[in-house]
Amino acid sequence: MKLTFYGAAREVTGSCTLVETAKSKILVDCGMFQGSHVASSKNFSDFVFDPTALDAVVLTHAHMDHCGRLPKLIKDGFKKTIYATEATKLIAGIVMEDAVHIMEEDFERSGRPQLYDANDVQRTLIKFKDTPYHTPLRINDVTIRFFDAGHIFGSSFIEIKADSGKTVIFSGDVGNKDVPIIRETETIEHADAIVTESTYGNRIHEGKVERFKQLQEAILDCVEKKGVLLIPAFAIERTQHLLYEINQLVETKKIPCIPVYLDSPMAIKVTKVMEKLSAYYDKEALEHISHGDNFLSFPCLHLTHTRDESKTINTSPSPKIIIAGSGMMNGGRILHHLIRYVGDRSTTILIIGYQASGTLGRRLYSGEKNIRIFGKRISVRARVKAIGAFSAHADQKKLLSWIGNIKPRPKLVLCNHGEEEASVALGTRITEKFGILSKAPKFGESFEI
Ligand SMILES: [Zn+2]
Repeated sequence: MKLTFYGAAREVTGSCTLVETAKSKILVDCGMFQGSHVASSKNFSDFVFDPTALDAVVLTHAHMDHCGRLPKLIKDGFKKTIYATEATKLIAGIVMEDAVHIMEEDFERSGRPQLYDANDVQRTLIKFKDTPYHTPLRINDVTIRFFDAGHIFGSSFIEIKADSGKTVIFSGDVGNKDVPIIRETETIEHADAIVTESTYGNRIHEGKVERFKQLQEAILDCVEKKGVLLIPAFAIERTQHLLYEINQLVETKKIPCIPVYLDSPMAIKVTKVMEKLSAYYDKEALEHISHGDNFLSFPCLHLTHTRDESKTINTSPSPKIIIAGSGMMNGGRILHHLIRYVGDRSTTILIIGYQASGTLGRRLYSGEKNIRIFGKRISVRARVKAIGAFSAHADQKKLLSWIGNIKPRPKLVLCNHGEEEASVALGTRITEKFGILSKAPKFGESFEI
């Protein structure tokens, strides 16, 4: 079995790996490169492999950096099936449609060409086939199974077993521990090689209690200053995780019920999908719904669908909490709120997710005091605070225990989906701790398993 890395190689975005066996060519994920303009221009390059020669695509989850180039793959001639869980299919549809929307706006504003359009997304969605967890899927000489990765709703790690006897696991993205609503990452039964994400391969997150306390403090601080708490949130999972914890803080009276605006049409749509598909819930979430408690809703929560509704947030009195996309502040409604509030000392920007290099989020996170939005220079007076434990990604400790639990040990671990430093750090720890050979693949690099 041969693996070749065509994305997320010593960087976080653009996941795309080709698996070749004697009789099959399977693509694992086909994600968008995100971050700087250099990164996004890579999306327009031709695929290095031939899309018409592929036998299937297996999709780990619905995040843009894993599914975002699928419509381009179809435009470039891919004709077969895309296998994914039902939740992944539904959410990927929302994500790709939103991407088209952003591309259209971008085109209107700057004339930048669109990578694909709404028709291409529709042609992609009809290629999806629901693939439940654990059910073996047979393609030529390989058997494939999906397992719950505990990362976002419907997320999977994927086992590919070739008739030659070799088994490879693709982690997709591995979930953080103690994340509400979704289930814990399943354990790996057996593998000769693992391809693991390493987004936080060199970091340890705070625990659940600390996370809850820091969120409470940030909200109470906002109440005291009569300010604005701006939370740039990824629409999938992170937003719902946040709503779940704010709901708990309100219900237990740990915070007053100040207005919370969910200003993201995409997050509202994803929340609706999550409310429908209770088959993916963890035990605690199932218990809530058995008592008739909608854990994603509370009295002071306002959903703003349209632009006009969004504009009314500006005139509503403070203190208030605004949750808006995009999560890395490189687009979306959060930019309009930043223009209005980032120059104000009573504002706090609460960062709860990964900020790729080249994004506005990363610049704010790094403490830059002068930023530019839509060509306007703005001085940053707002406080910027980050809570790592809201991450949807496992930290080094969890990745090590997930891989360390496999017996007998795999012979090779390939660390992808991380900035070079994080991928190399995780690989080094894996070799030191378990004696397993590890590598951080480069773009275009192949490995024979
Ligand atoms: Zn992800």
